[in-house]
Amino acid sequence: MSTILTDTYHRKHTYLRISLTERCNLRCTYCMPAEGAQLSPKSHIMSFDEVFSIAKTFVDHGVTKIRLTGGEPLLRKDAHIILEKLATLPVELAITTNAVNVERYIDTLKACRIKNTNVSLDSLNADKFKAITRRNYFDKVYRNILRLVAEGFNVKINAVLIKGFNDDEIIDFIKLTEMLAVTVRFIEFMPFDGNRWNIEKMVSVKDILDTTINYFTKDKLIRLEDAKNDTSKNYKIKNYKGSFAVISAVTNPFCDTCNRLRITANGQLKNCLFSADESDLLTTLRAGKPIDHIVEKTIRLKAKTRGRMDTLEKLKTTDLHSQNRSMITIGG
Ligand code: SAM
Ligand code: SF4
Repeated sequence: MSTILTDTYHRKHTYLRISLTERCNLRCTYCMPAEGAQLSPKSHIMSFDEVFSIAKTFVDHGVTKIRLTGGEPLLRKDAHIILEKLATLPVELAITTNAVNVERYIDTLKACRIKNTNVSLDSLNADKFKAITRRNYFDKVYRNILRLVAEGFNVKINAVLIKGFNDDEIIDFIKLTEMLAVTVRFIEFMPFDGNRWNIEKMVSVKDILDTTINYFTKDKLIRLEDAKNDTSKNYKIKNYKGSFAVISAVTNPFCDTCNRLRITANGQLKNCLFSADESDLLTTLRAGKPIDHIVEKTIRLKAKTRGRMDTLEKLKTTDLHSQNRSMITIGG
């Protein structure tokens, strides 16, 4: 591995998340601002060749895993071309999707050796799903999750918990893993521009585990080994087929082992999910020049913790976290 992907805190960045689009067929309230996100002009969005070219540079320098995200990555008409091109690189490919269109891509995902699919699902109740996504696709999404499992994909269900809205579903989500071999990942609600975040709405990992132990008892809760650089802490209930996990970017950040970099759909490199700083790779690429030195400089500037919001007090400061993009234009 070359050294340009290593930052000043000795973190080696081997995992690249590429957002393919700022658009989405859902409107999750915690992700897309109510007034809509300011979208980039179409000409500023990376073409499939540009996605490939940027991805290849990172792979040449040591990236071993690429996850496609969005917006909704499967909304792009050329998603299959991007997948097929990226599958020619020596890298593990994965995707994060809301699963609305996933049934059309099952064969492509398989042909591109994609095994790991992360699917957003914040409620097991169709009315609540509609309230949070502002769209009526619960049945389709649920059916597609079952289809992915039946087709042999590893499925992680991402559920962002919001107090008073879906925190009463923690047990139902875990019960889903009794017969279904999926991992349900409970994600702490994080602050981004325009998502009206408030610490009072966040369900902490401690709350989630307390609720779980109260219901299932401590004896039945098994702590699983986490994968290297995993952002989640993994558990299962004794004898259940699936498992569950908690992701605590707010109450207990995992920055020390961070190995992630992000490219936005308009070709900007972000060295941290929470950092408002971005480096323009696309303009340089379009000028026919190498992007390696920009990558190197951006990684050197990576802050130790959460884009310099190293305390909860700083993260809570609206002026700081609202300088960042809205999540829909980052990709998670
Ligand atoms: N459309 C795809 C999907 O929903 O899976 C991919 C993009 S979405 C931005 C990626 C992930 O970010 C989803 O799992 C979503 O739940 C998560 N996410 C979005 N906004 C969030 C927030 N404010 N806090 C925590 N997670 C968030
Ligand atoms: Fe769309 Fe995913 Fe954001 Fe929901 S979380 S609005 S599905 S990008």
